[in-house]
Amino acid sequence: MAWYWWVLVVFWMGGFGWAADNVRTALRNRHDRKVQLLEVAKQERLAVEAAQRPPEPVCGCTHHLAKHDKQGRCHERVEVPTAWDENRKPLRYEAGECNCQQYVGPQPLSQVFAEELTDRA
Ligand SMILES: [Zn+2]
Ligand SMILES: [Zn+2]
Repeated sequence: MAWYWWVLVVFWMGGFGWAADNVRTALRNRHDRKVQLLEVAKQERLAVEAAQRPPEPVCGCTHHLAKHDKQGRCHERVEVPTAWDENRKPLRYEAGECNCQQYVGPQPLSQVFAEELTDRA
């Protein structure tokens, strides 16, 4: 085989690889767009659902209203870091109680309660 055949082969392989890359990128872009559309649709659906549902009674301490007592103190068990590394990343944890003093999340407006009121009236 003459030497220039090898040059041709190398060019052809390179060109083929480039074309394959382009096809792959195009496919990936189309896939990404589809995923994005699905994601948007999902978020819209979630937003609609969230608007219809009463807000989750979750406190600022991330714990549910049910974890708080009548005085508002949170009794959820949490992991309290007791040692940190030089990057201020916790190394060790100790079991502790949530420090929350007062529930600050949304109060659940019970629909059952409202219906009972209207029934009595
Ligand atoms: Zn709390
Ligand atoms: Zn808490």
